[in-house]
Amino acid sequence: MSTAVLTIDLNAIVANWRALGKIAQVETGAVVKADGYGLDAAKVGTRLAAAGARQFFVAVAEEGARLRHAIGPGPQISVFSGHMAGDADTLRDARLTPLINSVDQMLRHVEALPGHPFGIQLNSGMNRLGMQPNEWSALREIALAQGPTVLMSHLACADDPSHEMNDRQRRAFDDMTEGLDVPRSLSATGGTLLGPEFAYDMVRPGIGLYGGLPFIDATPVVTLDIPVIQIRDVQPGETVGYGNSWTARRPSRVATIAAGYADGLIRAMGPQAWLTHGDTKVPVIGRVSMDLITADVTDLNDTPEHLQLLGMHQSVDTVAGFAGTIGYEVLTSLGHRYKRVWRA
Ligand SMILES: *Cc1c(COP(=O)(O)O)cnc(C)c1O
Repeated sequence: MSTAVLTIDLNAIVANWRALGKIAQVETGAVVKADGYGLDAAKVGTRLAAAGARQFFVAVAEEGARLRHAIGPGPQISVFSGHMAGDADTLRDARLTPLINSVDQMLRHVEALPGHPFGIQLNSGMNRLGMQPNEWSALREIALAQGPTVLMSHLACADDPSHEMNDRQRRAFDDMTEGLDVPRSLSATGGTLLGPEFAYDMVRPGIGLYGGLPFIDATPVVTLDIPVIQIRDVQPGETVGYGNSWTARRPSRVATIAAGYADGLIRAMGPQAWLTHGDTKVPVIGRVSMDLITADVTDLNDTPEHLQLLGMHQSVDTVAGFAGTIGYEVLTSLGHRYKRVWRA
């Protein structure tokens, strides 16, 4: 085996979906955009649908079409980017539900696909997607008459429970939706953890399903084992890797492993990063290069055949911390060269 092995535990994803549903106590959807946060939307979606998930969310219509093919006709698939120009055939053929973001999208939708289901996305303050309150006021009688599937909005700061933005957005969402007889949804993973007043009729977790923060009690989902290509002895004063950026201070054993930044192991994590071997931490030394990483294995008692980057000992958020980024980016950066193994 010459490439690293990325193991994806589909049972852990189901466990996380159930755990978030238990916290929310309302219908719990699943966000599988960006190919299921890099873990394969078709496999994740199929497994979650078998476990009972009935609401899926993707970013764009093309992702929805691929997901529909995998999970079959039953579950609803909603599209965050709404009804964009050129989407009509895809939305119709794959029976996708666009989450309409603007008056322009609403007009496009009713013209191209009259009678086709849609939801409404409202801007409660994040200023990224969704109708403005005044747009919604102008449109809402017409939109409500056609029975939208959901009224939704998205929180900007839900990973910080003490942030005043959370309540501010909740009040703005209430102002736009209170008393209307349509299911409502405000929360992703972070909002689901803020409490029952953020649950409304449906929550839409993504990252928490895949084992990432802010779902601190998540079951780990991914394991990444990287094979050792060779191990050499270096003497004090010798250097390792591009730019001579690491110099041996003692007689050292250096392992070279078969993954690098072309596999999404972000170059910026460099020498802050650790690998693990069993319960022992192994420091990365020198620079992360395209296909290779070097590690100091001097203190190991045995000769490892592979070293682990992600798993029981290091979460996606731990590894994100090495590179100054977030677990979401680590997951969605994982490259195409790994041997992927899905445990179900
Ligand atoms: C990505 C996204 C989600 C899921 O967010 P997580 O933080 O991954 O749980 C939910 N809703 C919208 C609108 C999103 O863009």
